[in-house]
Amino acid sequence: MTQLLLATRNAGKLAELQRLLATAVPGVEVLGLRDVPEYPEAPETGATFEENALLKAREAVRYTGLPAVADDSGITVDALNGMPGILSARWSGRHGDDPANTALLLGQLADVPDERRGAAFVCAAALVTPDGVEHVLRAEWRGAVIREARGTNGFGYDPVFVPEGLDLTSAELTPAEKDARSHRGQAFAALVPVLAEVLGAR
Ligand code: IMP
Repeated sequence: MTQLLLATRNAGKLAELQRLLATAVPGVEVLGLRDVPEYPEAPETGATFEENALLKAREAVRYTGLPAVADDSGITVDALNGMPGILSARWSGRHGDDPANTALLLGQLADVPDERRGAAFVCAAALVTPDGVEHVLRAEWRGAVIREARGTNGFGYDPVFVPEGLDLTSAELTPAEKDARSHRGQAFAALVPVLAEVLGAR
């Protein structure tokens, strides 16, 4: 069976890619970073989501010899000229401190009126194979940043993000409802035909 590494420790991302591939590209076993010997992960030094996703996928291939998919994501806020962007995970200065990151963002936007609170979650997904084939693509999920957190699902900025066309925050959606619309769901779905072609031909 062909193996594919998804360079993440996030069980939710792994399950999502596994679900998508099970129907579209049967016969591919999707592994996560917990399923392969540990390797030193370099800091994300790219200037764009695409570069960071490619860096992570290349690194995964170099250490494991497996074809690898990696993603990089964040929130881009119109009133902040696209920031936090690739710095989303460490916006407050501490990597992965979701409540502090969200509180800082809400403070920065305190005086921004409702009609200028547009934002988008962005995800770049990269595929790299040991033969040097590289693909990277990007998907966006537009919405607005509200003033107070609502909902307990999801992670990161989900409690303050209301997707376009909905009244709920993305933290008030079920995981399946979020996957069906989200930046990551769209990027993974767009990668599936590429994976079918690249892995199918191996
Ligand atoms: P990374 O892609 O794992 O580097 O994470 C990027 C950061 O962007 C996360 O720590 C979150 O703060 C934010 N982010 C990315 N995707 C989402 C999402 O679906 N919901 C909420 N926050 C997100």
